[in-house]
Formats: sequence, structure tokens, C-alpha cells
Amino acid sequence: MSRTGIGYDSHRFVEGRPLVLGGQVIPHTMGLAGHSDADAIAHALTDAILGAAAAGDIGTHFPDTDDRWKGADSLQLLRAACALVGQRGLGVAQVDVTVILERPKLGPHIPAIRTALAGALGIAVDAVSVKAKTNEGMGFVGRGEGIATLAVATLEVR
Ligand code: MG
Repeated sequence: MSRTGIGYDSHRFVEGRPLVLGGQVIPHTMGLAGHSDADAIAHALTDAILGAAAAGDIGTHFPDTDDRWKGADSLQLLRAACALVGQRGLGVAQVDVTVILERPKLGPHIPAIRTALAGALGIAVDAVSVKAKTNEGMGFVGRGEGIATLAVATLEVR
């Protein structure tokens, strides 16, 4: 038996912060605003994993009012979500992520992001899919104001 969850996240670009996606610092002129490291890939995936277990969302488990998560490495949240669903007898089998941004080009960084996510999730790299696309110049992503991320996680009963 398997269970599927979906996650979404978006963050605004700001100057003076590093751009962190999938646990990797991506060279760029701007980073993402947020209480934690604003890693939109890790956040969307965390919500997908919690969603698959019907276990609430990232905001209830890791609230941005909690100073424990200030500036946090969001791969920690991902590991915590895996542990939480693990207590319910579920394990992550496979994930798929789409990052929507105009720039920087994410392609060269995708192998490192997949490796980092696989490590945090405790699954094989070939069970971790990460894709990037632009929004064809439309909307807030198209104007370069921020990025959006979608994630799907499949959990199996263990
Ligand atoms: Mg977020």
C-alpha cells in the first residue's frame, strides 16, 4: 500500500541572503526571504511528506514563531518530517519536485540537489526527481520577484 502527498512553497527574492535550494547554496545575486534558510524545495517536500501521512503541515510542526527554526537548515525539517511519518509506520519511497523560477539556471545544480535530498530522505538518488522550469515571463515568478516549488511524495507502509 502507498500514500501520496502534494506540497507547494513560494518565497520572495531579497538581496543580502544566500540562495539555498535543496540544501545547496546556489550562486546568485539574491537569496530568498524567510525565517529559516527559506529553502523552498525542502519546504514543499516536507509538506508533501506530511500530507501523504495526513499529518498536518510544516507550519504546525515547525512554526516560524519558534526560534529553534530561525535560520535553520531546512534539510533538518525534512529529516524531522521523515521521522514523524516513520513513527506512523510510513517511509518515503519516492519524491518528485518541480521548481519554477526564471533565474538562475538550476540545471547545473540538480545533481547536487538530488544527492542532498536523497541523503536527508534516506533513499536512493534514483528515487529523487528534481526538475526546473521558467514561468515564461508570466506572473510573480516571471517578473523575478520570487520562486515557486511543487512537490509530490509517495510513502509506503512499512
Ligand atoms: Mg517556505
